[in-house]
Amino acid sequence: MILIKNVEIYTPTKRISNGAILIKNGRIAYAGPLASIPSLTVEVLDFKGYIAVPGFIDIHLHGGAGSDFMDGTEEACLRVLKTHMKKGTTAAVPTLMTAAPEAIVKAIQAVNKLKTAKDVLPAILGLHLEGPFIAREKRGAQPESHVRPFSAQELGRYVKAAGDGIKIMTLAPEILGAGPLIRDLKRRRIIPSAGHSNASYVEAAAGIRAGIRHGTHLFNAMSGLFHRDPGLAGALLLDDRVTVELIADGIHLHPAMAVLVTKIKPLGKIILVTDATKQAGRSRAPLRTRDGRLFGSAITLDIALRNMLRWTGRPMTEILPMLTLNPARLLGLAAVKGRIAKGADADLVILDKKLAVKHVFVRGEKGS
Ligand SMILES: [Zn+2]
Repeated sequence: MILIKNVEIYTPTKRISNGAILIKNGRIAYAGPLASIPSLTVEVLDFKGYIAVPGFIDIHLHGGAGSDFMDGTEEACLRVLKTHMKKGTTAAVPTLMTAAPEAIVKAIQAVNKLKTAKDVLPAILGLHLEGPFIAREKRGAQPESHVRPFSAQELGRYVKAAGDGIKIMTLAPEILGAGPLIRDLKRRRIIPSAGHSNASYVEAAAGIRAGIRHGTHLFNAMSGLFHRDPGLAGALLLDDRVTVELIADGIHLHPAMAVLVTKIKPLGKIILVTDATKQAGRSRAPLRTRDGRLFGSAITLDIALRNMLRWTGRPMTEILPMLTLNPARLLGLAAVKGRIAKGADADLVILDKKLAVKHVFVRGEKGS
C-alpha cells in the first residue's frame, strides 16, 4: 500500500486541497481529505506543494523518441510508450498510419506482444487505425499510394489480427462504401471517427446520422469551416453527440481556434491528443513531409494541458477532463480510468506548481 498525502487533488472535475490518496493492489482505495484517513502501516509519500491528477489518456499516438508504432517491433512500441509515460501518459490507444495491409498487420502484432511485457507501461486501451479508407486529397502525411477504397475483407483482416482490439477507425464519410463501413464498424464496436476527409457539410452530416461519433484532429486534414460550406469541421462542431480531438501544440491549431472550440462544443466532448510522431521527446518542431505537409506533432500531453490552460484561461477542473475523463468516457472506461476515485485504477500524475510532471504511477507502480 502507498499513501500519498498533503497533495492538491483534481479528480479531475473537483479540487481537493490537502488531500490524500491510498493505493492498494494497483487501485485507489481512498481519495479525499487527508484528515479522514485512518493511520495505517504503509509507504507514505509526502507530496506537499504538488498536485495529483488522473493519468493522461492519449487516444491518438503514433510515436516518440525516434520510434513509431509502424516500425512494427516490440522495442519501438516500448520506446514510444515509455517516452510518453515519463510525461504523464498512463494509457494510450496506439495509432497506426495508412500503409500496406502487411505493414498494418505487422504493427498490430507488435502492439499485441506488449501484453506480455514485464516493464511498467501505459495501459493499451486498444488500437486506432488512421485509414486506409480515407480521402486522397486530404491524406495529410498518410502515403497516397496506400489510400484505398473500403474493403470489408481488409477490415476483417485487421480485426482478426488485433483480436477485437481495434477501438477507433478514422475514415472519410464521403468515400464510396462509407455507409457499409460505418455499419460494419458499429457492429464490431469500433468507434467510427471522421477525418482525412474532404466531405461537404451535407456528406458529413449524413456520416454522423449513420453513426460517426468522433472527429480525428479537428480542422487538420479535413474540409474546414467556410461560410458557404461549413464542411466536416462545421458538422463535427455542431453535433453535440460528437467528440472532437484537438492537437493543442500551437502549430496544428491556432490558440484562438482552440478557444473557439471551447465556446462551441460541450467541454465534455473535447479530447486533447498528441498525434505525436517520432519527433516527440526529441524536438518541439513537428516533422513535415517533403512537400511541407505537417506530419503529426512533437508534443506530449503535459504540453497540451499547459497550452490549453494558458490559451483559454479556464480552470483545471474544465481542461483536465479533456485528457483524462473525456477519452475514458469515449472508450467506455470511465469507471476505472481517467479519474481519481475509490475503485479506479491508480493511474496518477504528480505535477509541481508549474505543472511539470514530477512522478507518474501506472496502476500503483512508479512509471517515472
Ligand atoms: Zn495521426
